[in-house]
Amino acid sequence: MGVFSYLCNGCGSNIRSNGFEGEQCVLQHIRHGELIGQVEGAYDGWGSVVGDKVFRRYLPAGEDHPNGQRQIGLSELGLPDSGKRSGIAAWHKVCFAKVPAAQQSEYRISRMDPKQGYFGGGPRPEFM
Ligand SMILES: [Zn+2]
Repeated sequence: MGVFSYLCNGCGSNIRSNGFEGEQCVLQHIRHGELIGQVEGAYDGWGSVVGDKVFRRYLPAGEDHPNGQRQIGLSELGLPDSGKRSGIAAWHKVCFAKVPAAQQSEYRISRMDPKQGYFGGGPRPEFM
């Protein structure tokens, strides 16, 4: 699987990683409009944050987790409301902090970054 990323729900710019460093972000896993899980940290380029052991990780055969790869993949692509009320709501951490709590919990599904978070420039200091 190649690198990919999202456009931030706050500023509309992409969330970037260069494979070594990533911009600070908040990722919310949304299923049918409800928050299933949320992580914060440096974007890893593959839909999670550096150091997280569960969020979007491939789990051993036979194991499942509401925020593992299988369930997040299902939310993003495999449900009738994928891309609308199921998927990932992504933010830069600073953008998330700037908006009121009501907006943080709107759970608007983010658009995919056409530059995959990697191409077209590395992480920016203002988001580190
Ligand atoms: Zn932003």
